[in-house]
Amino acid sequence: MHMTVERVSYLHENEIMELIDNIKHALRPSEPEEAFEVRQAVTYVRGGNVHSFSYDASGRVVSAEIGNDDITEAEVTLSFDRLDADCTCNKTDWCAHRAAAVFHLYLQFHSLTDWMHEWRRTETDQMAFKISDRTPEAWNNVLARSMNPIRVIALRENPAVFIHKFSLIEQDLAPLYPYEWEWKPFFDIYIRLHALEAAWPYVSFHLGEESSTFSHGKWYVKNWLSDQLGKLKDNIHSIASKPRLFETDPFHENLQRKVRTFALEQSGLFYKRFQTYQLFWQYLFTNQSLRERERALLDTEYASSASIFIAFFHVLQDQEEDLKKLTYDVKQENFSEWLALAELADQHEKTDALSLIMHVLLPLMEDYLTNRVPLPRRPAFVRKIDGLLETADFPEQQREQMFSYYGESGIDVYADFLVERERFSEWAALMHRYRVPYDVTEAGGLNVALAADPASVLPLLHLYATHFIKERNRQSYRRAVRLFKKMKMSAKKSGKHEFWNRYVETVREKNRRLRALIEEMEKGNLYL
Ligand SMILES: [Zn+2]
Repeated sequence: MHMTVERVSYLHENEIMELIDNIKHALRPSEPEEAFEVRQAVTYVRGGNVHSFSYDASGRVVSAEIGNDDITEAEVTLSFDRLDADCTCNKTDWCAHRAAAVFHLYLQFHSLTDWMHEWRRTETDQMAFKISDRTPEAWNNVLARSMNPIRVIALRENPAVFIHKFSLIEQDLAPLYPYEWEWKPFFDIYIRLHALEAAWPYVSFHLGEESSTFSHGKWYVKNWLSDQLGKLKDNIHSIASKPRLFETDPFHENLQRKVRTFALEQSGLFYKRFQTYQLFWQYLFTNQSLRERERALLDTEYASSASIFIAFFHVLQDQEEDLKKLTYDVKQENFSEWLALAELADQHEKTDALSLIMHVLLPLMEDYLTNRVPLPRRPAFVRKIDGLLETADFPEQQREQMFSYYGESGIDVYADFLVERERFSEWAALMHRYRVPYDVTEAGGLNVALAADPASVLPLLHLYATHFIKERNRQSYRRAVRLFKKMKMSAKKSGKHEFWNRYVETVREKNRRLRALIEEMEKGNLYL
């Protein structure tokens, strides 16, 4: 008997509502495989892939084919009596085909979009229900699941997609925050830790050592990471600044385990993991015996891989002897980890620990710089090292000796070092030796040197001026003349009028054929 879909849908409205409810409960949005079936069903319906509808009034059965004109993927039989469906795809439970047949009937009088919305909301409701059970287990369960979209993301996926997926997760989680302000920062810490844990393979793939090139996408990921760490930090400070609630004890304990697992068992971006671990143990878990317990745990459970974390506790607790024993283990491979610890010691003004670590690192420095630090990062690296050596009270001689190892990467820092000590002729020699461009010199110590000890820099300025003149254009002549004026000023100050006039005369004589230069020199009024 022929009957339109619309008519069937009208006749069996109640049964259809019941069937669609069954789908809602059978295919949960939180389970990726089940959610896929629903989405696939919607695609079938919207793509017009449900056809050959027929209705058997006596058996109260509908049958339909799913597929396009060329291929029939499956045949579905819906029984309104049994409130169930069969499908030739052989799945035992609800499949995309069965769902598509029901959706097709349903949307004759209802909005499928609204239903989808409702269906998705069930997940949030379920999560809210579980979150209200205030235990770390309940929170961990819900949060671990909510992070699935970024956990399963392909490593090469565009960072913009990653950011978008995460913002959807944050939207879903927003209504789940506990109402009490004491609990909010806790919940947020859990969110950040779960996010870091789920996204870590992706994040370290994009920010790891191998991907040293700059890209816009990398910038996205970098910002995301610092955003998470920033929020962790704020929440930790917020919790640490208030009296501790007895009910939060299990959360504190659970956090210790979570942070430890994250920091020690993930790989890549060591410095960031270490930083995360520090945040908790510097500001939140400050109790002495708690720290001792954690250190002992690291000792037994993680042994060698955790030595830097153990060393971290020795630094925090001023246990230099123990720290010293661990430094026997410092080598090229863990240099950067120990350097991170040195920086931490510096931040906390643990000068003895800093000095101890720097003494161990120093012999490895040159090798590390040339083999591990990419060229563009070397100047900053040298500045950092020299700063640490200074704080650690290394003798000046030793610091200076290091500059010969740093070579060109250390020019900036060495230049500052010399200017600070008013060793201007050595400074000028350094500029000369490495052919530092004039602009850099001018932005550096030039004016200080000129004012304090003009005689030591005049030869250098003469070199720059000669260089400008050789460029043979009006613009560079003007630059040369500006330099001559600087020289004139300092000659005047040091009372070397005669010397200076002779110098100008020599320059003129030597370049008398360069009319444009002579013109510029005259305009510059260079004689004293
Ligand atoms: Zn099927």
